Amino acid sequence: MSSDSAATSTVPSVDGECMFDVSLIINNERVGATDGKTFDTRNPISTRIATRASAAGVAEARAAVDAAARAFPVWAELPPGRRRELLLRAADALEARKAAFVDAMMAETGSTSAWADFNVTLGTDMLKEAAVLTTQIRGEVIPSNVPGNLALAVRQAAGVVLGIAPWNAPVILGVRALSTPLACGNTVILKGSELCPRTHSLIVEALIEGGLPPGVVNYVTNAPEDAGAVVEAMIGHPALKRVNFTGSTRVGKIIATTCAKYLKPVVLELGGKAPLLVLDDADLEAAVDAAAFGAFLNQGQICMSTERVVVDNKVADDFMALFSRKARSLRAGDPREAGPAVLGSVVNMATIERCNALIDDAVAKGAQIVAGERADTTLMAATVLDYVTPAMDIYREESFGPIVAVVRVDGEEAAIATANDNEFGLSSAVFTRDAARGIRVAKRIESGICHINGPTVHDEAQMPFGGVKNSGYGRFGGQAGVDEFTELRWITVQTSGRHYPF
Ligand code: NAD
Repeated sequence: MSSDSAATSTVPSVDGECMFDVSLIINNERVGATDGKTFDTRNPISTRIATRASAAGVAEARAAVDAAARAFPVWAELPPGRRRELLLRAADALEARKAAFVDAMMAETGSTSAWADFNVTLGTDMLKEAAVLTTQIRGEVIPSNVPGNLALAVRQAAGVVLGIAPWNAPVILGVRALSTPLACGNTVILKGSELCPRTHSLIVEALIEGGLPPGVVNYVTNAPEDAGAVVEAMIGHPALKRVNFTGSTRVGKIIATTCAKYLKPVVLELGGKAPLLVLDDADLEAAVDAAAFGAFLNQGQICMSTERVVVDNKVADDFMALFSRKARSLRAGDPREAGPAVLGSVVNMATIERCNALIDDAVAKGAQIVAGERADTTLMAATVLDYVTPAMDIYREESFGPIVAVVRVDGEEAAIATANDNEFGLSSAVFTRDAARGIRVAKRIESGICHINGPTVHDEAQMPFGGVKNSGYGRFGGQAGVDEFTELRWITVQTSGRHYPF
């Protein structure tokens, strides 16, 4: 794809605002849907059209897998040092597009520039980490009981990998869906989110600008109503060997069912309801800072967001005095305007309706609002509900918005039981001044991730990231990611004569 045929181009919008046109990218070529179908995304604050994107159908989805399958043999056999060089160049190209990413994320998802900036920084780091992994695809020599037999466990690229990423941390999660698979020698298709097709297309443009050959990375977007058919067309394609999906548990179960139908392995990174435990010996100021950061960063729209604070009654009043004051000090504002608003817009009014309903239900059942309130625009204040009980919907349901539930408990056992009284198990945190106690508690929390004296929101490219229970299965990051996106082969060499019984 030459620079003058980038996947995005600016056109005047029907309502006068700047609107971007986004295409599919197959074989490094910008292509539209054969039937010309498109779909629109809207700016969550102005509600004007932000992006008009090509809507792939089954034919385009299959064409993307065909292109990736054709590119696979050469990419898989490329010396790892060459793959490393290209991924490092892609990282530079991604970083160089920071301004475009910030603009696209603000327009499509209403995010703050700080969150968009962080997305590009971590996305760049993920590509650099993947570059390092190219020479770290390890095998094993396993002692064989057959005399003279050299037995090897060899990791090889699997083939074509489909990555499906959501809108909430679009650069981080879009890059994560592709980077380790590419490092392992797979070719990939990114299926972009219907809510941020332009942001996701910028990732693929950067990878191509970094020098990835035609077909190694492809980009598919679809209209919301076509998601099921488009995704199944790719999963069912014989060349498609691995899937990774980041999104809701509801859709994750559909993806898992489709993958089971075609026997395709899948990594599922799904919803969360992260608890932050404040034990009776916690440093309360540190716990408050972590809880506020974890609950309100990106308006609570992070899978690791602190959705529940479980606080020991012995320190609950002191903790809540500090926490409610901190939450009330955080300003929500239009990210496009000047001024230090910590919270930007949520992605759409559906989020506000969901959060309002959770607040209404909790208040009707006895919860107290100690910061924030219901909202009637996408700019919602940081909202804290105290005295939440298991009878309230917010106790168990993911809000995916700027509201946090505080549950008061008596003692460590009750805190652990409350943390585990949930269908999800992605991230968690424990605050205590006793590190050994923290580890004992962390080991009993049913989650993939637990941070002692740190926020529930913490991601690094090299860490084994993933959940348990309804938060999914499989791991991204470092060697765990290599395991997910390679085939483990058993290859032997008979180095001496072999005895046969007949
Ligand atoms: P979503 O599940 O609604 O959408 C994700 C993707 O699913 C989209 O690309 C969409 O096209 C696709 N999809 C929708 N219907 C489909 C169908 N019938 N068949 C196949 N694909 C279909 O998720 P979302 O609202 O974009 O993201 C928010 C959710 O993602 C939250 O629950 C959040 O916790 C979760 N999340 C998890 C992680 C993690 O790493 N565990 C990270 C970020 C977000």
